[in-house]
Amino acid sequence: MKKTAVVVGAGLGGLSTAIRLQHAGWQVTVLEKNHQVGGRCRTVQQDEFVFDAGPTLLLMPDVLHSLFRSVGRELDDYLELLRCRPNYRLTFGDGSRLDVSSDMDSMSDQLDAIEPGSGDSLRRYLADAGYKYRVARKRFVERNFRHWSEFLTLQNLYFMQKTHTLRNLDSHVRSYFRDPRLALAFTFQTMYLGLAPHDAPSVYSLLPYTEMVEGIWHPRGGMGRISEVLLDLATELGAAVETSVEVSRVTSQGRRVTGVETLDGRLVAGDVLVMNADLPYAYRHLLPGDRSRRSVRRLNKLDYGSSAFLLYLGLDRRYPDLVHHNAFLSTDPTENFDAIFRRKELPVDPSIYVCAAGRTDPSMAPVEKDALYVLVPVSALNGNIRWERDAGAFRDRILDKLESSGLSDLREHIVSERVFTPEDFATTYNTARGNAFGISHGFWQIGYMRPGNKASELDNLYFVGASTVPGGGVPMVVIGSKLVAERVREDA
Ligand SMILES: Cc1cc2nc3c(=O)[nH]c(=O)nc-3n(C[C@H](O)[C@H](O)[C@H](O)COP(=O)(O)OP(=O)(O)OC[C@H]3O[C@@H](n4cnc5c(N)ncnc54)[C@H](O)[C@@H]3O)c2cc1C
Repeated sequence: MKKTAVVVGAGLGGLSTAIRLQHAGWQVTVLEKNHQVGGRCRTVQQDEFVFDAGPTLLLMPDVLHSLFRSVGRELDDYLELLRCRPNYRLTFGDGSRLDVSSDMDSMSDQLDAIEPGSGDSLRRYLADAGYKYRVARKRFVERNFRHWSEFLTLQNLYFMQKTHTLRNLDSHVRSYFRDPRLALAFTFQTMYLGLAPHDAPSVYSLLPYTEMVEGIWHPRGGMGRISEVLLDLATELGAAVETSVEVSRVTSQGRRVTGVETLDGRLVAGDVLVMNADLPYAYRHLLPGDRSRRSVRRLNKLDYGSSAFLLYLGLDRRYPDLVHHNAFLSTDPTENFDAIFRRKELPVDPSIYVCAAGRTDPSMAPVEKDALYVLVPVSALNGNIRWERDAGAFRDRILDKLESSGLSDLREHIVSERVFTPEDFATTYNTARGNAFGISHGFWQIGYMRPGNKASELDNLYFVGASTVPGGGVPMVVIGSKLVAERVREDA
């Protein structure tokens, strides 16, 4: 008899864990509350337009390649990856622009025009970031920490000291670039992790490094295609993936999980349970109460990072100035970060990200029309912002800024529109406090300090996804599936 595993949630974490466990000889059942798989990573059709619903930038594609290779398949047989060129176009508060690309000559020319000599600074910055990326990935990201002593080894302490890990990214980058626009261009990426650059450890300079050196990619058909091909692979290997099935509680006996109960009263038994639903939500709502009270107290103290306010806009025209990825940055980035992360209010002059995927992939938008995905980082749900009251005015603030930043008469060209707020994150995906990127990734919430992928209260309960190790982001949760599958196999 095969051992059985139940996976709650068919996000990227759940699907990739199912693939690894099924391949390792387990019989896996995945239960997903929504009718579509992929969780935050899905593609949605809205009238004649196609939108990535959540993630839009595929970084570190080698992670997906190695998932497929680990089960004897080739990603290229399932998915076509297109490279985005340039990586993105930044428009600063003063109207000046920078096209960030992997072409170092073009970067040097553009940077030197902003700050003489900064082309060379970029090379030095990337050399330092590349070292951090290689070491951090091997020693901190792609490994399990079962104990403090595995995290705080002499080698790791040396690395942290050498790279000034506790120094913040903002001051690190300012030792390379004096112009505030360049400092912003190479730090704003911490927003992907729900962090302000001045709260982020300097090791996160590895983010612009991965973008510039390995490139930014787009799967033909949209990011949701990644989830669809993971579903295909999981089912091909024999896993059962059931959608529109919501788990209402985890069942247990003593220190062992016995399975789960679904909203319609069905009991699904398993030898192990892998929880892909957001970890803090699962502790609060699905785990047996008396065992998890202590953990819930700890969870209340976590920093839930940020969320996102999204507009999906179908337009009856194209704006030629847009490339695939665009960011219209705030005139006062520090004030913008403080509003989101410190005061937890809506920013007055927000930074706005606009994705026009039709530039790389014609299947995303009809000819001469456009599908614009607009994302504004905002605080996770906290009581200060009431979205049913505030969403309309915030939408107008965003459209005003886009119209004055070159997308003239934008409102007149919107023919299809949908708004998605942090409250929608909470109800659609069950993310705690409507977070978009998982709990925050500040120094005290990474590595051994992040909620682990194995529960301490129950012997056969594991976690995978953005709020556990190693963290959020498409490649990270797929790496997380490797880590959790390793622990399940070890324990078995
Ligand atoms: C707006 C946005 C933009 C992003 N941009 C990028 C980007 O450009 N690049 C990048 O790499 N990353 C990006 N990310 C992050 C990335 O999308 C996530 O880290 C990743 O998709 C999370 O995967 P997951 O498996 O942890 O969680 P999820 O996708 O949340 O999957 C969890 C699944 O569990 C299901 N579930 C929850 N509760 C239950 C229940 N009780 N019963 C059954 N099922 C349940 C949910 O419906 C969901 O499908 C972005 C995220 C967002 C939201």
